[in-house]
Amino acid sequence: MLLDTISKLCSNRVMRWERQRVVPPKEGASAPELPLGLPEGAPSSSEQRPRAGLRLPEPVPIEAGTEEAYAIEIHAKSVLNRVPGESQVPFRWTVNPYRGCTHACIYCFARRTHTYLDLDAGHDFDSKIVVKVNAGALLRKELASPRWTGEPIAMGTNTDPYQRAEGRYRLMREIIAALRDRANPFSILTKGTLILRDLDLITEAAQRARVSVAVSVGSVNEGLWRAVEPGAPSPLRRLDVVRRFAEAGIGCSVLMAPILPGLSDSSAEIDRTVAAIAEAGATSLTPIVLHLRPGAREWYHGWLRSQRPELLPLYERLYRNGAYTPKSYQREVANLVEQAKRRHGLAHPQRPENFREQQHDPPQSDADRDRERQLTLL
Ligand code: SF4
Repeated sequence: MLLDTISKLCSNRVMRWERQRVVPPKEGASAPELPLGLPEGAPSSSEQRPRAGLRLPEPVPIEAGTEEAYAIEIHAKSVLNRVPGESQVPFRWTVNPYRGCTHACIYCFARRTHTYLDLDAGHDFDSKIVVKVNAGALLRKELASPRWTGEPIAMGTNTDPYQRAEGRYRLMREIIAALRDRANPFSILTKGTLILRDLDLITEAAQRARVSVAVSVGSVNEGLWRAVEPGAPSPLRRLDVVRRFAEAGIGCSVLMAPILPGLSDSSAEIDRTVAAIAEAGATSLTPIVLHLRPGAREWYHGWLRSQRPELLPLYERLYRNGAYTPKSYQREVANLVEQAKRRHGLAHPQRPENFREQQHDPPQSDADRDRERQLTLL
């Protein structure tokens, strides 16, 4: 209902960020489909929305709440975002070249940020991807500013920089090259196997500055992946990324997130996932239980209602006080993960020289979240 209302409000009016759009194709010209293939093993059932690619937008204002999948190219005014000093997050600067994410995780905490663009937090978030086409050049300029002090920069803190659009736009190559050239420390968190394309640049950067890479794998259950992360590469392919970075001597940590109540929180599921992560050679593993903020909460509940209605009472109980589960439940899950880490030799992981702890989605207060949201607008 909420999403319907937002869609109606936003339809047929010019978005306030339209001024920043790159000149779209001339009226009447056909809009070329971007060569963005489905990730290997992605679901092809007719129940899934088509994800064969994004189209460059027609020369009309983008409408919210429609089925179309678009790459919305814009010229950003700034690409380095400062996190407010009082925030609890373990980084002060972020770069996010994309808004929205075709990995389309049902639970994605960043969904609400699409509403700040006058798009909706549901299918629009998955399919109308804002691309900051000047991100690389702009970052190079901002890093060269005498005011820039060379602090670490976190990427993948809002949406995934290695989502499918990156295959076409290659913004991360420009961004990493700029960071390498300034010997600026950085960290990347992703579910995208496309990061392997940039292993050469990341290796060069790691020889000059502290670099850390983390991959998010909440579960290795294939059925669950297809259901809740329909646009992302499979968990096993993500673990190949961990393996390749380990072989390259850079190392890669794993954020075991989110752990989903009733779906991936059993002792057996946790053990299987931790075993696979350990086997891949992760430098460390950090578990995070699902939290459901506005935007993600409505979308996730819609999915639960249609696919796993028997779990609704459990979720109502666990999330009755807001976005987070009770501490007692979080401790229970953390204990299961800790025991599995000990069984599989991950309790005292080796950390390579360039490793720096990073969290995709650290606990934040509502005020922190709103401030970070402000910073990640265009
Ligand atoms: S990969 Fe990350 S940013 Fe993209 S939809 Fe999934 S949780 Fe959200």
